[in-house]
Amino acid sequence: MIMNTGFRIRQMCCLLDHSEKFVIQSAAATGTGSRRRRNEDHYYADPDGRVFIVADGMGGTSGGERASQLAVDSLSQSMSVLADDGSATDADVMCAIRDAFAAANADIIREARRDVRYCRMGTTAVVALLVGPRLYIASIGDSRAYLVRHHRIRQLTVDHTWSQALVDAGVISPADALRHKMRNVLCKYLGTVELGEGPDVQSVDLEDGDQILLSTDGITSVLDERLILEIVDSSVRPADAATRLLQAARRNNATDDVTCVVLGVDASAPEACTRPDDALERDLLTIGN
Ligand code: CA
Repeated sequence: MIMNTGFRIRQMCCLLDHSEKFVIQSAAATGTGSRRRRNEDHYYADPDGRVFIVADGMGGTSGGERASQLAVDSLSQSMSVLADDGSATDADVMCAIRDAFAAANADIIREARRDVRYCRMGTTAVVALLVGPRLYIASIGDSRAYLVRHHRIRQLTVDHTWSQALVDAGVISPADALRHKMRNVLCKYLGTVELGEGPDVQSVDLEDGDQILLSTDGITSVLDERLILEIVDSSVRPADAATRLLQAARRNNATDDVTCVVLGVDASAPEACTRPDDALERDLLTIGN
């Protein structure tokens, strides 16, 4: 089996335009799993620093890759419009996020019906949308969002897997779920006519020093919360955290594709970006193991 030896990382920072002058720094990293020929994960990191997405595709030859790309394209477009609407209420934003997921789901189903190569495709999606000082988190599938605050980590999302459903029903314990044969089987994803109530949506009022991680299960299946906390909490910049998370996943024999987006809230250095147009963006780098 050939191990893909590089991953891409992107870093930017952006002034959050409100009275507290937070700077949101972000970095994204992605790499192909050791048992994969194609990377079926995609991510989006908005140049304006307000929309971040991670998606993990599945299904058929190139279906997974196509599904996660479609989700990222559709959701990023809808979310960017939403981020620009300064007059939206909390309920408006949550409703619009659900509509955006429904539209992305319809896009994927339409493409799957149009081209037989994509007939079995689907994807997870986890989104972080910044509206003022509030961060909205929406997810479907088993890609996760975590909040690291005051040296503690909290998983913000719930996996839409059959094993998690059994935990919620009190049938098995969380420890049993880690080894359960249905732990990777999704009960909800984008690309299905049975979307149900759609994504879980919640909001977080950001604080200085907060770090947010969006991640596919390529990382979370091989790194436990304690290790993720240790890495994110001890990293000076989001780019360091993203790099170290991917390296640690590979050291732990990640066979799946690995993708993460890390956000850092920093109120101490607003001069780093004087306005959103000054977003610092590094070229895509290829970094060896
Ligand atoms: Ca995966």
